[in-house]
Amino acid sequence: MSYDLLVMKFGGTNMQDSRAIRHSASLAARSVRVGVKVVVVVSAMAGVTNQLLKLADAAQSGDIAAANDEIALMRTRHFTAAQELGAAPDSITVREIREMHETLRQAVYGVYLLRELTPRSRDLIVAFGERLSAPLMSLALEQDGLRAHHLSGGEAGILTDSHFGNAKPMPNTYERVKDRLSGLLSAGVTPVVAGFMGETEKGAITTLGRGGTDFSATIVGKALGADEVWAWKDVDGVMSADPRVVKDAQNIEVLSYGEVMELAYFGAKVLHPLAVTPLQESGIPLRVKSAADPDFPGTLVQAQPRDEDGHPVKAVTAIRNVSIINVSGAGVLGIPEVIASVFDAIARENVTLLMVSQSSSMSNVSLAVQTVDAERTLAALRAGVSLELKVEEQPGVAVLAIVGSGMRGQKGVSARMFTALADQDVNVLMISQGSSELNVSVAVEAAHVDAATLAVHRAFGLGAATA
Ligand code: ASP
Ligand code: MG
Repeated sequence: MSYDLLVMKFGGTNMQDSRAIRHSASLAARSVRVGVKVVVVVSAMAGVTNQLLKLADAAQSGDIAAANDEIALMRTRHFTAAQELGAAPDSITVREIREMHETLRQAVYGVYLLRELTPRSRDLIVAFGERLSAPLMSLALEQDGLRAHHLSGGEAGILTDSHFGNAKPMPNTYERVKDRLSGLLSAGVTPVVAGFMGETEKGAITTLGRGGTDFSATIVGKALGADEVWAWKDVDGVMSADPRVVKDAQNIEVLSYGEVMELAYFGAKVLHPLAVTPLQESGIPLRVKSAADPDFPGTLVQAQPRDEDGHPVKAVTAIRNVSIINVSGAGVLGIPEVIASVFDAIARENVTLLMVSQSSSMSNVSLAVQTVDAERTLAALRAGVSLELKVEEQPGVAVLAIVGSGMRGQKGVSARMFTALADQDVNVLMISQGSSELNVSVAVEAAHVDAATLAVHRAFGLGAATA
């Protein structure tokens, strides 16, 4: 297939040092040289986002020395990469990196003085990761003989609401991105956009949630009507299970938008869950590609599922560090207002519910949440529901999910899963099936999650040997 326009996203490991950046640039250049217009969207160098979050917290708690040490380490990393990519000490790239680091240092010092870290200041600080990656990628593309120009998310036209930390694009983003990038593209320049970030109407920097560079890339893809969005990774594509747990996990050739969202929701680190929305709205396919093996087709994510006979399930995925929150109280929970108060309390805290189940006696509701959210959830429930209800946490749980559009309307899929679990002596704590029938999920004890994943993967014939 010949392409006219591609958006290429490079993640943290594809940007981690000069070598990785040079390789990533060569992947974009390969397409540009055969006449494809490419927009590059970059993440922060691997680890930098976590470092920025950590140092911002250190500054807030008064440890400016720790924060400065961390900034110094990052600064060395950015300068080393620039130098190794061929930037002269007085070049624009080096000057730009120096200026950005200076602004970062001042912002962090401000947090230290005020001992206050608002979501807005945190976004300003954390977005420096991507902003500092973009000039490095531009430089690498230029070294490869291309003309390139880098932009922050805001400069590229990404306008968001002001939900700092989890901002969403405003409807007019798409027009703006098109306006800002089309000119560069038709002039033969490859735009390099700092991922993960946008800007509010008033010019405040926002971020799109962890893993948000995927979202930036699909926003740009929709805005420009790209042929495809390519998400380059350090893995082959989306796998049938975590290959660290299941040795014979295989690459999945085709997934639908719905399937990939379920996978993202159930803990597979494939794609930012919201990144699929712009694709759904525009019908643009996304390809997860391996940077180490660029000719391998990877995984194609498209509107239509492709179901293979005899394989109703495409992947098994697990979320670890889960807690079950049990809400119980005989005779009280059957009342709709009481159930409403439970969900109201959860909604106010903005906690993600992984699973919900209610017993038929109606005296018990179980919620599965990430253990990091458990304390908040307990507090919210205890404050927000009738005193007659008992609220308890059961930690040490994992949620296992099977995903695949082929199980819609198919009988016996759950039976196969439960037989596999029973054969391994795995106790099932909670069960739920979404009405979309794209997944069945179970909560199991954390200690059993690997054995359970292996057994279920085998039961559905997903391994290389059994396929
Ligand atoms: N650097 C950001 C993160 O680590 C965004 C991304 O990598 O997609 O969450
Ligand atoms: Mg990252």
